[in-house]
Parts: sequence; structure tokens; C-alpha cells
Amino acid sequence: MSEKIYSTDAYARDMTATVLDIDRADQRILLDQTVFYPGGGGQPHDRGALWVGDDRLDVVRVTSDSAGVWHWVETDLPSAGTGVRGEIDWDHRYQLMRTHTAMHALCGVVWERFQSPVTGGNMSPGEGRLDFDLPDWDAEHRFPMEEELNAHLASALAVEVGFLPRDEADADPSLIRTKVSLLPPDLTEVRVIDIVGLDRQADGGTHVHRTDEVGSVEIVKVESKGKGFRRIRLALKD
Ligand SMILES: [Zn+2]
Repeated sequence: MSEKIYSTDAYARDMTATVLDIDRADQRILLDQTVFYPGGGGQPHDRGALWVGDDRLDVVRVTSDSAGVWHWVETDLPSAGTGVRGEIDWDHRYQLMRTHTAMHALCGVVWERFQSPVTGGNMSPGEGRLDFDLPDWDAEHRFPMEEELNAHLASALAVEVGFLPRDEADADPSLIRTKVSLLPPDLTEVRVIDIVGLDRQADGGTHVHRTDEVGSVEIVKVESKGKGFRRIRLALKD
């Protein structure tokens, strides 16, 4: 298994590691520890590079499975046991951390007003969309909600990462904001992201430490996608 440094320290951008295994068919490398986020929960995987001595290997894709975190490269693979250095594309990741945090804050605001669950979502650096089961939506809600969202972000709420035993997490249905629980059945510990006082949910992604790092956001568009189904698009303003 790989130690997932990104899971406890989102701000770690480089690491040294040892190659645990390689997969020649897929051109990918399993490392004993990594700062590379493999993607999930709507957040894209990191990109960046590994170095073996002076040789640079561009990481074009990152995935995870029961063996750990795989770094996909397009060049020759080092052998198991080799020491490597790795560094993520920080600008790309940090934009995703700000965007992801903004999306959780939006979940919190929508939950406060409507108690509506999320049905889907996706993001790219600086932009995100969340789908809600939101039958009571009216167009005039948009600007007050944007104002409320920005007020929460500007108030510098702490964003805390915690871990809960599975049975405790299952006993708190509010942690699962998606309409259907996406937690794998064999998961024994659940990672929880708490924007203190606003939103608390099970999540695997990377977020900023305080909401004022997000800056202000714009609710770009609210689309109606059918009965009760609303798609809210937001964007970072800088
Ligand atoms: Zn999330």
C-alpha cells in the first residue's frame, strides 16, 4: 500500500519515495508514498513529474486501487526498489483545492436553505458544477445565495480533516451529502472534511485550510435539468 500524503497534508507538493512495483503493460509505477492525488469525488487527478536521478518522468495520469497509488508515465520505467523524487504541478492542484472548498461551501449554503442533497458534481481548476435535487428553486434565489456564499468564504472558516470509524460515520447520515452513499462497503475508516460551522461531509479530496483562501466566487449559472433537478455552476473570481 502507498501512504497517501495528500490525504493528511494537502499542501505537501513534493516527496521522495521508493518504487514498490511497476506495471509494464500500462506504463505505470506504484510508490510507497505519494503527494499525487489519484482523482475522485469530482476532483481530477494531479499532474507533475517524477525524477530518477536527473531523468524526468512526466506523470500523465494517477490512479489508485487496492495495491496503492499508480503513477502513469510515458517513458522507461525504473525497477522496483529505486528511489525517486516527485513533485506535483502546484498551480493546477491549488486551484483545484480552492475550487473544491468553494463547492463544499456551496453544499453548506444550499443545505442550510433547502436541505437538498447533492446528486452529482465535477470540477476543473477554477470552475465547478454541482447537481442538486432542488424542487423549490426560484431564479431570484441566485444572487442572495451568491452573497451568502461569499460572506461565509470571507469569514475565514477553518477547514478541518478528520477520520471516523466506519460505524460512527454510518450512524451520521448527514455526512453523506450525495443522494446515494458512494462509500465502498469494505471501507473501515471514513475521511471527513469539516468547514467548521458550515458543511461537514465524507470526502477524499484536497481542500484549503481556511475558506478565505478561496477568495470570492460567482454563481455563473443555475440550469434546470428536469423535475426538481438543478445544476449550479460556480467559478472562482481570481
Ligand atoms: Zn468534495
